[in-house]
Amino acid sequence: SILSRWRGVQDRDGGRTIRMASEDARTVKKDIRVGVEGLIGSTPLMKIKSLSEATGCEILAKVEMMNPGGSAKDRIALALVERAEAEGLLRPNSGDVVYEGTSGSTGISLAMICRAKGYRAHICLPDDTSTEKVDLLEKLGAEVEKVPPASIVDSRQYVNQARARANERNSDDSIEGRGLFADQFENEANWKAHYDHTGPEIYQQTGGEVDIIVMGAGTGGTISGVSRYLKQLLPNLKVVLADPPGSGLYNKVKYGVMFDIKEREGTRRRHQVDTLVEGIGINRVTRNFDVGRRLVDDAIRVTDEEALAMAKFLVEHDGLFVGSSTAVNCVAAAKYALNTAGPGHTIVTVICDSGARHLSKFWKAVGPIGGELGTSSLEDILDLSST
Ligand code: PMP
Repeated sequence: SILSRWRGVQDRDGGRTIRMASEDARTVKKDIRVGVEGLIGSTPLMKIKSLSEATGCEILAKVEMMNPGGSAKDRIALALVERAEAEGLLRPNSGDVVYEGTSGSTGISLAMICRAKGYRAHICLPDDTSTEKVDLLEKLGAEVEKVPPASIVDSRQYVNQARARANERNSDDSIEGRGLFADQFENEANWKAHYDHTGPEIYQQTGGEVDIIVMGAGTGGTISGVSRYLKQLLPNLKVVLADPPGSGLYNKVKYGVMFDIKEREGTRRRHQVDTLVEGIGINRVTRNFDVGRRLVDDAIRVTDEEALAMAKFLVEHDGLFVGSSTAVNCVAAAKYALNTAGPGHTIVTVICDSGARHLSKFWKAVGPIGGELGTSSLEDILDLSST
């Protein structure tokens, strides 16, 4: 029994443990989270040991994969739904349906929140989305609609489909329940969730000792919300965008234009989106990116080869199994530390989701992890001559 266990301890340390235990019982507060919503946010901040040692900087990561739905998107899914509820656009258990166009994490988070709150979720996604994400959506009871991938022609295709489906529902009075288009790219509840929570958490967890933040942007909600909050308190903070191949954001930050300028021909060319990285990189300026755009100080391009090598490096050295956008973030953080900042700085980045979401596509390309312990160095895996 507990009592005899305590007695055993008491015998060994002369009664000190029993006194401490009863004092704890008086001062301790209950700590109960209510529902899955209660598990969202307050994620840990982790020092990545290998990258910190190799760069001489303190490289810290906000572990967003520890949200109940497995990514930072839980925060915005909750915020989008709660905003709609406050505006009277959603009523629980009345047949209302939340529609969203997403290639992954936001759909999973919305499906989870909708279940918890009494709504249905209808997710439109490109039909090349990794199978484990589609499976997960279906297991969470979301209705999944696959739309042909058309990122080069019109990256908004699946988003437009979701908007059209919501409108369809709302224009037919014979259908029970209203439709809500969540609109993560343009809805400002997205960046505000990061301004209200993710930013303040980082400030608290570092005691305000942060010099640089580095992260990619999909909707742009995370980078905008976190930057807007932290830059008010830390005017010297540097914000660095990590950008995968094919994304136009790098050029937007560096040169103010989204397109490749082909100088000789004088033409503007859209980037071809051709990367294994999911969740970050885009070829338009969304509302959620735009509200923080002027706070982004620098940008770093990351190749797929570097991201794949970093994913492997983090498993080999740290036992850290991450998804593709996290690998891009870590490459950019390490490059900025080595090439620009120099040692002695504190850099915060984001672990967006786990490698488990990326087994069939990104991790398939990483290849096998050898039995020997990690011996590769950052210089081996990164092209430090490019930024
Ligand atoms: N990583 C992953 C896995 C994502 O799904 C996303 C968003 N689509 C991001 C990073 C980027 O976050 P944000 O949309 O806030 O820019």
